[in-house]
Amino acid sequence: MKVTQLIADTKDTVISFEVLPPTKGKSIESLYEHLNPLMEFNPAFINVTYHRAEQVFKKRVDGTFERVEIRKRPGTVGICAALMNKYKVEAIPHLICGGFSKEETENALIDLDFLGIKNVLALRGDAAANEKFFNPHPHGHRYAEDLVKQIVGLNNGVYMEDDIMDGAKTDFCIGIAGYPEKHFEAPNAETDINYLKRKIDLGAHYVTTQLFYDNRHYYNYLNKCAEFGINVPIIPGIKPLTNKKQLTTIPRVFNVEIPMDLYNAMMKAKTEADCEQVGTEWLLHQCKDLLKNNAKVLHFYTLGKPRVIYNVLKQLF
Ligand code: FAD
Repeated sequence: MKVTQLIADTKDTVISFEVLPPTKGKSIESLYEHLNPLMEFNPAFINVTYHRAEQVFKKRVDGTFERVEIRKRPGTVGICAALMNKYKVEAIPHLICGGFSKEETENALIDLDFLGIKNVLALRGDAAANEKFFNPHPHGHRYAEDLVKQIVGLNNGVYMEDDIMDGAKTDFCIGIAGYPEKHFEAPNAETDINYLKRKIDLGAHYVTTQLFYDNRHYYNYLNKCAEFGINVPIIPGIKPLTNKKQLTTIPRVFNVEIPMDLYNAMMKAKTEADCEQVGTEWLLHQCKDLLKNNAKVLHFYTLGKPRVIYNVLKQLF
């Protein structure tokens, strides 16, 4: 079922998860072990991230180095099919612009359509590990809005080859990313929301947000988006913070703030278990507040300690 339909149909708040493909060399069982306990809460859908290839230097036997491309977490599409088959749940693959030509994207969309996948999250992706700024593939898309246009085109039966007349129409529900604390490259929140609006005007159907630890950022974002005439669902994305190291890694990686109260509580925690307890209580408090404010979906980023999410959900539902 499409995410928008699901949200329109549900009276209660539904749960969803984001998972990462296992690192290359690990079996899919590791992902099932991660997800199995969480499936008790009947997620409405599970997002599967996409990870572009990275360029790394490998030493040759003669001591010189060669640059090779490796994809550390392959398998997004296969995992979506496996999750749908195993758990009978909607699986949502993330699609990124980075590293893809338009033709490769079109072929990926055809694969997804043939697999019966009804939802995709259309993203630009970040800069490659060896680059400072995002550089599009020479035959690819620069912004997520260009990817949205391509998916909308395919939904209308428009393929890259001009000679395909009367092409089969796909029917993807298109999600996009939103940033309650602004995307780090955007000059200001208004510009960022303007670009969000453009993606929606082009045909995106809903928004999933970057994680946040202060719900006020999310509520302000909802208000600002409404002022800009955005009226599609905006799904809050939340992630537990469970150790002291994350007090600096999370702001660096996701460009979000850690509220002072959370920071202080985490700094006071003495043991690993204490840290987990702080993270659990904070997430529980965030979720209760979101439920009180009628969030239709709670979308959990499950990388790290799914046990914390499990404990929170157990107390909520
Ligand atoms: P865009 O919408 O293209 O925006 C990028 C920047 O450009 C923003 O600052 C925006 O304001 C600006 N902008 C947008 N359009 C224009 C325009 N036409 N002209 C000028 N400026 C413009 N990354 C991955 O690699 N894999 C994943 O699986 C993944 N999943 C994610 C899931 C969620 C829910 C979120 C929030 C992020 C995810 N990301 C993922 C990270 C995401 O790819 C990065 O944050 C990326 O830097 C921006 O992606 P975007 O789709 O928001 O880009």
